[in-house]
Amino acid sequence: MERIIDFRSDTVTQPTNHMRSAMAIAVVGDDVYGEDPTVNELEVLAARVSGKESSIFVPSGTQSNLLALLVHCERGDEYIVGQQGHTYKYEGGGAAVLGSIQPQPLDYEHDGTLKLENVAAAIKPDDPHFARTKLLCLENTQAGQPLPIDYLKNARDFCNNTGLSLHLDGARLFNASIALNSDVRTITQYFDTVSICLSKGLGAPVGSVLCGPQDLIRKARRWRKMLGGGMRQAGILAAAGIYALKNHIDRLREDHARATAISERIQALNHPKVIASKAQTNMVFLSFKEVDVSEIANQLKDKNILITPGKSVRLVTHLDLRDADIDAFVTELTAALS
Ligand SMILES: *Cc1c(COP(=O)(O)O)cnc(C)c1O
Repeated sequence: MERIIDFRSDTVTQPTNHMRSAMAIAVVGDDVYGEDPTVNELEVLAARVSGKESSIFVPSGTQSNLLALLVHCERGDEYIVGQQGHTYKYEGGGAAVLGSIQPQPLDYEHDGTLKLENVAAAIKPDDPHFARTKLLCLENTQAGQPLPIDYLKNARDFCNNTGLSLHLDGARLFNASIALNSDVRTITQYFDTVSICLSKGLGAPVGSVLCGPQDLIRKARRWRKMLGGGMRQAGILAAAGIYALKNHIDRLREDHARATAISERIQALNHPKVIASKAQTNMVFLSFKEVDVSEIANQLKDKNILITPGKSVRLVTHLDLRDADIDAFVTELTAALS
């Protein structure tokens, strides 16, 4: 198979040989009966790593976030979320469709936070005209940016004062903790529930975990079954998640270094037609001037390099990329622009 250099997302990674071996030898059972030892091991590990009482293994980040919304909110409740928040914009409106939960989206600040004054202003009074505001949902990283720890502390205080619950869509939580050089619990301590994707930068083929207090995770288990997320011998998949949590966290530094390399090398080109954002984790955003980005994407594709064309092109680094791929990308992009 020809080698493809894929910058579209960190979801495109292939399980490594070591990960596949761990999957192949996993001891399994029927997880709907709670009898899969490998799933149970993953759920204990994820709870420990995130500093929460309990966790539940689910097929996707979308389901993990949906479970969180369903356990925090009931029919006629609302949650406050970023306008570009994944749970609001990219999950098919699941909370509204399946939970009768209304989103209240607000604009993100440039650093990926939601200004707490704006959140306060969006909380509805206790009045039959309004949905009941129950939950604040943050995302970390947000567009590749780790949220400042000070902000998280303020958000926790704010939620304590206003009686809201606080959920984190931490699809790329470990990218944030690595970028901030802090233990992941420094981040998760401020949240009631945290969703973590195993299938992004961590490199597992499938799966997410929702972490939180035991009573909420028990509630989530019921919803997971109802949503069709009760899997049987899922230990094969959980084994990949365990492997990822044990072996693929520290290496995220390499992804961050490669994203920084892309950013710096594009900036150094001083090219009139392309500007690169500064990389804080594993993402770089390129904005183009006076070029047809679809045409650029097609030319790169001819060289086995994949990007998603758009107004702003998001490049994501991950475990299947090497340093030489960064060189190839910069070279081919320069050629395509000339
Ligand atoms: C990818 C992603 C999700 C959802 O994960 P899936 O496994 O693709 O359903 C949720 N939130 C964010 C921020 C993501 O990037």
